[in-house]
Amino acid sequence: MKLSKRVKSLEESITLVITAKAKEMKANGIDVISLSAGEPDFDTPKAIKDAAIYAMNHGGSKYTAVTGTPEVLKAIQTKLKKENNLEYKTNQILTNVGAKHSLFNITQALIDSGDEVIIPAPYWVTYPQIVLYAGGKPIILKTDESTNFKITPEQLKNAITPKTKLLMLNSPSNPTGAIYSKAELEAIGEILKGTNIMIASDEIYEKVNFTGKFVATASISQDLFKRTITINGLSKCGAMPGWRFGYMASANDDLIKACKALSSQSTSNICSITQAGAIPSLLGETDGDIEMMRLEYQKRRDWAVKAISEIDGLSVTNPPDGAFYLFINCKKVDPDSLRFCQRMLQEANVATVPGVGFGMDGYFRASYATDLDSIKKAVSRIADFVKNY
Ligand code: PMP
Ligand code: GLU
Repeated sequence: MKLSKRVKSLEESITLVITAKAKEMKANGIDVISLSAGEPDFDTPKAIKDAAIYAMNHGGSKYTAVTGTPEVLKAIQTKLKKENNLEYKTNQILTNVGAKHSLFNITQALIDSGDEVIIPAPYWVTYPQIVLYAGGKPIILKTDESTNFKITPEQLKNAITPKTKLLMLNSPSNPTGAIYSKAELEAIGEILKGTNIMIASDEIYEKVNFTGKFVATASISQDLFKRTITINGLSKCGAMPGWRFGYMASANDDLIKACKALSSQSTSNICSITQAGAIPSLLGETDGDIEMMRLEYQKRRDWAVKAISEIDGLSVTNPPDGAFYLFINCKKVDPDSLRFCQRMLQEANVATVPGVGFGMDGYFRASYATDLDSIKKAVSRIADFVKNY
């Protein structure tokens, strides 16, 4: 048997690999603390579960339309209008098996061999992989702490070529927590004006936001509305990662049609029960739960940023504005982030993700989507580990 050339170079998600490794060590009796998983430690809010149970007991077990039920599409439309000032028609919205699936379909639908996709680094691990899988060429734009890991308009301008097809934007960012301001998005919009470049705006951490300044990329201008594909989901903010609920919206009808065809020939509709469960959350019934989680993340962030900064050799220059990760500079201890994280897992039994997986060595990512007691224990282990490194 010979695997396809296409799939042979596809790597597994390093975040999922490390999370699985930590679980395996735990199952073998090792006292591992995992700061690797990018998933909320909170349970799914009750209103979501109740709606799903209701659907299960009232005939919700059938196939639905590939794009989603009329009710869920309407609920997404209402959410995007009310919270993001975006006016999409329901036939411009598609539900997917998580935002990851939306991003996968988008790259498959847009990219031809040799097309260039601009990806700011550090990036979420999946972006370059799905671009490569589609035959595209990731053009990585390295950022640094001086701009809080955000690309500058100048950098973007210099990266554009006739082959540029797509820009991947992720705000709030995984792994840095940086949020692009309205002015920064406007500046990006100015650079792209007059080009055919599309933007995939991954807004999945929208509500894990400590500054209150999140702005949806597509809401900035009519031009940006047309070129932006809005991607969101409820894995993070709705605390339902295992339910697999993501969605995309675009004013480009051809793109929607292509992504619909991709789903139609691969997944069909997403889980019907998940769709029913998502509706109350999209319509604001879980806002109280979301706010409770946000405040708890903020408390953990504040504690962890201070505690990590007190460890000689580690630093967090820019406390994250959103999401639930610290992107920690470990260059003074070991610039090789893979070696550093592997040793930390083996010697201190703390699982984190090396920055190299996000396209930036010399850093590692620690998730604070875990309870504060575990975070405190983990930070104390990290402090001892670094002292003896
Ligand atoms: N985008 C980013 C930046 C993420 O961190 C994640 C979480 N893995 C996703 C998209 C995909 O999330 P999901 O497929 O669970 O909706
Ligand atoms: N997005 C999460 C993370 O970055 C989940 C892992 C994944 O989907 O790859 O940890």
